Parts: sequence; C-alpha cells; structure tokens
Amino acid sequence: MDLSSFFKYATPVIYWLLIITWALIFGFYMLKVKSVKTKDSLLRLLLIILAIDAFRSFFESTYFGLWYTSFSGLLPRSIFNFLNQPEIVFVPKMFNLITTYIIVTILIRKWLVAEISQKKELNDLVDLQNSRLIHKNKKLLEAKEQAEENEEKLSRAIMALPFPTMIHANDGEVLIINENWEKLTGYSHKDIPTISDWTKKAFGNESEQREISIYKLYDLDKKAEEGEFEVLTSKGTKLVWDFNSAPFGTFSDGRKLVITVAKDVTDYKRASLEVHNQKKLFETMFNTITDGVVITNTKREIILANKGMETTFGFKPKELMGKSTKLLYADSLKYADTGTALFDKNAKSSDNLYVTLYKDKNNDVFPGETFGTKLFDSNNKWIGNLGIIRNISERQNLISDLKLAKEHAEESDRLKSAFLANMSHEIRTPMNGILGFAQLLKTQDLSGENQQKYIDVIEKSGERMLNIINDIVSISKIESGLIGVHLEETNFNEQVEFIYNFFKPEIESKNLQFLLKNGISFNEAIIYTDREKVFAILTNLMKNAIKYTEKGFIELGYFKKDNFLQFYIKDSGIGIPKDRQKAIFERFIQADISNKNAKQGAGLGLSITKAYVEILGGDLWVTSEKGKGSTFYFTLPYQTEIISDKIKKIEVLAPAEISLTKKLKILIVDDDETSEMILSISLEEFAKEIIVARNGVEAVQACRKHPNIDLILMDIQMPEMNGFEATKEIRKFNPKVNIIAQTAYALIGDKEKVIEVGCNSYIKKPIDVSILKEKISELI
Ligand code: ADP
Repeated sequence: MDLSSFFKYATPVIYWLLIITWALIFGFYMLKVKSVKTKDSLLRLLLIILAIDAFRSFFESTYFGLWYTSFSGLLPRSIFNFLNQPEIVFVPKMFNLITTYIIVTILIRKWLVAEISQKKELNDLVDLQNSRLIHKNKKLLEAKEQAEENEEKLSRAIMALPFPTMIHANDGEVLIINENWEKLTGYSHKDIPTISDWTKKAFGNESEQREISIYKLYDLDKKAEEGEFEVLTSKGTKLVWDFNSAPFGTFSDGRKLVITVAKDVTDYKRASLEVHNQKKLFETMFNTITDGVVITNTKREIILANKGMETTFGFKPKELMGKSTKLLYADSLKYADTGTALFDKNAKSSDNLYVTLYKDKNNDVFPGETFGTKLFDSNNKWIGNLGIIRNISERQNLISDLKLAKEHAEESDRLKSAFLANMSHEIRTPMNGILGFAQLLKTQDLSGENQQKYIDVIEKSGERMLNIINDIVSISKIESGLIGVHLEETNFNEQVEFIYNFFKPEIESKNLQFLLKNGISFNEAIIYTDREKVFAILTNLMKNAIKYTEKGFIELGYFKKDNFLQFYIKDSGIGIPKDRQKAIFERFIQADISNKNAKQGAGLGLSITKAYVEILGGDLWVTSEKGKGSTFYFTLPYQTEIISDKIKKIEVLAPAEISLTKKLKILIVDDDETSEMILSISLEEFAKEIIVARNGVEAVQACRKHPNIDLILMDIQMPEMNGFEATKEIRKFNPKVNIIAQTAYALIGDKEKVIEVGCNSYIKKPIDVSILKEKISELI
C-alpha cells in the first residue's frame, strides 16, 4: 500500500476519533456542571466555558473530519465542496466567534464579578477571623491578668496561712514556703530550695525515707495524707508536725504541683503525753494502794474501784461498777448513817475518818477504817464521793495480842517476883535446916540419937535444895536445846511398877489410897523410849499428886490408844481452878500464886515435865475441878522399833584386874576442896594412895607421872581444862585406867556424854558415898 492511501484512511480515522473524544469531553463537562453546587459559581462558569470550548473543538473536528474524509474520497466530494464554500464556513466560524465573545463576555462579566465577590468574601472572612483573634487575645490577656492576680492572691493567702504551708513541684523544687513554715522551722526558702534539702534538714536520720515517701506523693493524683512526724528546727529543737499533702494543679511549665500543709501539734502532743503520764501515774497509784479505794457518784454508786478492793473485799473492780456501796457494809443501818453524816447533799463535813463493819464477797465481816470525802468539780459542784477502806482486823488482832502480851509481861513480872520470893524461901528453908542443924551438931554432949536426927535433917534439906537446883539446870538445858533423846528398849510394866513401889510408902504414910490400873499386856509393854525422861515425867506428876492431895486416893493408870501409850495420874486433891489450868505448865507458875508458901516447889516441875513429854513426841494436859481433884494425862509414841539409835557406845578396854584386897591408887580431880575432902574421907578404905588434882591439866600431868593409877574420880566442870577434855587426853595414853565422872549436871544426857568421851562410869554430885562404893566394886 502506498503512503497516499495510508493518509487517505488514517487522517479521517484520527478525525473521527477526535470527534468522538471531544463529544465525550463535552458530555463529561456538562455532567460536572450539573453536579457542581450553584454556590461555587466560579467553578461552574469555568466548567461551562470548558464545555463550550469542548463543543467548539468537537464542531471543528467534525467539520474538518468531514472535509478530510470527503477529500480522501470516503465521502462524496460534494460534501467537501459544500464545506468549502465561504458562506458555509461563515456560519460555523461565525458561531465560533460568537461563542468566543460569549465566553469573553461571560468571563469578563461573571468571572470578574465572581472573583471580586470571592475576594470580598475572603476579605470578610479574614476580617472576621482577625476580629475574633483580637477578641480572643483580649480575653486571654484578661484571663492572664486574672490568673496573675489570682496567683498573687493565692500566694498572699498561702503566705498568710496560720499553718506551715509549702508548695513544691514534682521534680522536688520547693516553690513556696509560707511565713509560718519559716518562723517555726527557722529555715528560709533559700535554705530549702528543694525537697531533698528540706528532708535532710528536718528529718535527720530519717531524711532518706521521708524523701522517698514525698516523691511517691507526686505519682498520686488523689489527696494523700502523710501523718505525724518529728521535725528538727534550725535551732536543733524538735517539733511534731501533722502533715497533709494534696495535688495542687499544674505549673505553667507543665510540672505537677503539690501543696503540703502541716499542723504544729508539738504542744498538743506534749500536753497529751503529760495527760497520759498523769493518767498512768494515777492508775498506778490507784491500783498499788493495798487499801480498797472506790469513787462513787452522788447516788453512792461505784464508778471506779481499785485493785485493793479485791484484796480487801474479794470483789474484782469491774464486779463493783455501778453497784451501790451498800453491798460492802455489814450493817445496812450503818450504811444509811454514813450516808446522812457524810455523803448527803447537805452533809457538812467534807471528809471523815470512821471505823465500821464491812463484809467481803464471802460475806465474812471485818472491821474497816474508812477515810471518806465528798468530791467536787472545778465549779464546786458535788460530783460524788471517795472512800479509802482499810481492813484493820489484823491491826485489831495485833492490838489485842499486844494487850495480851502486856498482861502476860505484867503477870510474868509478878510471877518473877513471886518466883524470886519463892526461890528465896525454897533455898533459905533447906539452908536454914543445914546451917541450923550443923550448928546444933557442934553442941557438946549431944546424944547419939539427936546427932543422927540432926544429920537426917541436914541430909533432907540438902536433898531438897539439890532438887531445886536440878530443876533450874534442867529448865536452862531445855531452853538452850541441849536435851537429846536416848531411846532404849524399855519394859513399861516394870517401869510403872517401880514407880508404884517407890511412891507407895509415902502415899500410904499420908493415909491415901494408891491405885494402879495397868491396861497393857506383858507382850505389849516393851517399847523404845527414853527411860530416864519417862521416869522423870512420872516422878514429877506423882510427887505433885502426893503434894496436893490430903485425903482420898491417887490413881496411876496407862493404856494403849492408837499409836500412843496414854498415862493418867488422878488424885482427889485440891484441884486447879479453870483459869490456871493452862498457866501451871509455864515456868515458875503455881496454880495459886497468892499463896506463895502454899506448898514447897518453884513452879518448874510441870514445865520440865511438859518439855520432856513433847521432846518424846507426846502431849501433856490436865482436867481438874477445884476442890475435887486433878487428872494429869500424857501420851508417848508407841514405838516398838528403834528408829534412830542415839546411844553411842565407846569401846573402853576392860579395867585391869585389881584385887580389892590390894589397896587402890586413886586420883581425885576436883577444883572444890570440900567435895575433894568428902571423897578422900569416903574412899579411905579402898585407897593405898590418894593423889589430888585441881583441874584437868593437873589431872593429865598426874596420870603421866603415875601410870599405875587404878581409879580416877573426874570432876567435869573445872577451870583451865574440864573433865571431858582431860578424860579424852588421858585416854590417848592410858586406855586402861578406870575413870568415874562426877558432875553437878545431875541431868539426863550427861551420862551418855561422859561415856562418850571415855569414862567408865558416872556418879552425880553431891556424891552418895554408898553408890560410889557400889560403882567402884562393879568396876574393880
Ligand atoms: P511446883 O514445884 O510448884 O509443884 P509444878 O510446875 O510441878 O511446880 O506445878 C505448878 C503448879 O501446879 C503447882 O504449884 C500447883 O499449884 C499446881 N499443881 C500441880 N499438880 C497439881 C495437882 N496434882 N493438884 C493440884 N494442883 C497441882
């Protein structure tokens, strides 16, 4: 195909494509014109112009398209020719020109107008915005001024707050502290520019902890309370502040603010501590008082009671709350009396001390001393009563005990005088006998019979005096606890029979009947007891019965009762008045103290007897009726087995066999010349030689010097070295020599002691020569 045929077809195709395209563009603009809002007239106008222009291009494309198509021979040339005519072109071109002018006109008229109005609108809008901005700005300025004014007011208010106040930002900067804060702490804002400075200064050791907890506050948006803390001032004093912190908005730079208001509670704390201490002191005092203390209202109902009420009444304080004090009184009349006298509205006396009978929780009545007083408030209005109650039963008992003791002391005094008089009589009587009859013995030409009679009197008087001295010694031994118990197997029936036989002649000589009631079988009669003490007990009681009975009978009886042997010595004598029945067992007391010379005796027998009975584990008592007679009872434990053997046996070698035909070499040791003389004379028949030593030392020396001494009569109580010591010394080098102790301690227990130190036997002073001879014969 040649080029000319290519253009022949291609050009018309391009034209037709242009025709279609412009038609579509025109359609598109027209649609857009429709859819554009009438308000947006400028755009609409523009679109219309564009549409017209598109139509013009469509028209022209159609014109030239047709022309080229016909020119290519595709359409008849006539059409081209038709178009080729100026008159035909005129119309479209005319149309073209008209549309151009229309457009220009439209543009000039509509476009300008629209643009002018739009510009005006825009100007108006700018003006409006401007005036709005100016207004806003003005408002902002006003607000700023207001805010500044408010801020200043607030700042002034904060400064003037009566509480220490601080405003701080959440980075720890202290923005404001008020005057009160500065005044109380002594720190100015310069001293504490940050929270850290503040905590370091105010909280000492706890500063770190405090700082951490303040920083925690910044994270909290709600109100936060911090509580009470001690604050150190610049002067080093301590204050107690009650802190309260809360969020306080935001600072201009965006930092959150916190306000901390503190209350200085130092004085309050001090005061409350003081009150607390006072209260504690009061409570301690109130409860340590051992007396009962109650506080009542005006109706006498208990509103406060101390612990002493429990000690005094047995009521726990809370048990008494609200109860009437009537509960405490043993006598309700007395309760009423104290009410009118002391605790009534009109009662004059405001305080009083009175003694009344109270009753405790167990209804036991006791005497109580009470201090009662009315209580008044600060307006002098009567608000209640106070009562302090002390149980005085012990005091009263003490007083009566003291009274008794005083009476006792007075009686003792009387008794002592009576005793002294009695002793003087007791000693003088036998002394008179001894001295008087010794004098009489010197009478020349005294008959042998009279001589014997006088000697008898002297002997009896001596015995009587010895008895008194023995009694006194026994009493002092009992008192100093020197009496021991020496249990031995004892046949009681034999013991009692001995007593019976011993006293029978004396009783019968007084024309009295003597009865023996033995309630113990032969097998039961063997018990372990201290034979010598039992003998002394029975002898004393028997002697008294004989002494105080003039007619009738004396009965001695004994029987077994439970684990005891019970004895009685009954007489039909003068009897003992009821009020003296207890006293007679006391020392130096006689039933009838007014009649000092009634009977011989120092009033010691019964007290010794009672002490012995008690030492042995028994009891002694009397039943008696004045004028009818008395019965003395005593018991002893019925002991068939030895519990503790208190008797110590000393190994003493058998004495050398000495023929009695040979006379003995005897050493008499005695510091008293008279005693030694009696012995020397009495022992003449045994002695080939008598050596005398005045004390233990001499005795030991004599023994060393004379190893062949056969017998020593050793006194116990001596100066320098006593008999016990001397015997012990002698036994060290001479175990064989026979030693007989002689002592004035004519008492139970002495025998055991001398045997213990090494003596072979014992004889009591004053020496009965016949007994001494018996003992020597036994030994040698
Ligand atoms: P005394 O040496 O005076 O007899 P006691 O201590 O043995 O001392 O006795 C004290 C007092 O008890 C006696 O003085 C006597 O008044 C009274 N008494 C003792 N035994 C009897 C008794 N069997 N009958 C009456 N009174 C007695």
